[in-house]
Amino acid sequence: MKEFVLRDTTLLCPTCNSMFGTKTLAASPDITAETPVEADLHRVLPDPALRAAFVAMCSACGYAWWVQAFKTHPFDSKLLPKPLSLEYPKRFAHAVLTGRSNGSHSLDLALLALNGYWCSREAGNPEIRFLELAHHEMDNTLKLDDWEGSRGYYHYVMGEICRQLRDFKAAILHFEKVTPIANIPQELLDRQKVLAISGDCDPAVMPAHLVELMFVDQGAKV
Ligand SMILES: [Zn+2]
Repeated sequence: MKEFVLRDTTLLCPTCNSMFGTKTLAASPDITAETPVEADLHRVLPDPALRAAFVAMCSACGYAWWVQAFKTHPFDSKLLPKPLSLEYPKRFAHAVLTGRSNGSHSLDLALLALNGYWCSREAGNPEIRFLELAHHEMDNTLKLDDWEGSRGYYHYVMGEICRQLRDFKAAILHFEKVTPIANIPQELLDRQKVLAISGDCDPAVMPAHLVELMFVDQGAKV
């Protein structure tokens, strides 16, 4: 079975052109029915450093964004100054700030904030402000009349955000806006609605057969 592998990498900042060293995710095991996945549709990672590697932050100018936005460079990263020793979840807060100052789409900001929340949980220190930030940005996204994204899918995610923030009434309203095109299994939707109705705000693990249906059969990666 493949393991998670983080690799020392040299990246080029797209804003100031500085080189900096960081860890990037070079390999990850395939998702199987036994992989822990939570009902807000994220894979639980065994180390916060892994999720933090989704985002890179330039040590010269502080620009932070999804790692794919940076070009790699063959220079040996061990010869470069060490990156800022930010706690892992904070990297996502910096990426949200970068996105805001660049006028990025609110969905990107919502997903960065959600990843910050999951990363803080993986670090053993859940930071609810990330979930509140994700709520704010997802709400902005769903209010955009001209947004042509997967509205039904994100109503489901928003339902889970609201449920975990203890706004059970809003959670149920969002769950009811999930359309068949969103490909959310009815069983999952029903399970999460029951949790919202019973006032349960805890993160919920997805049962193996639903992980298989939603992730394994679709060949999902991280
Ligand atoms: Zn920079």
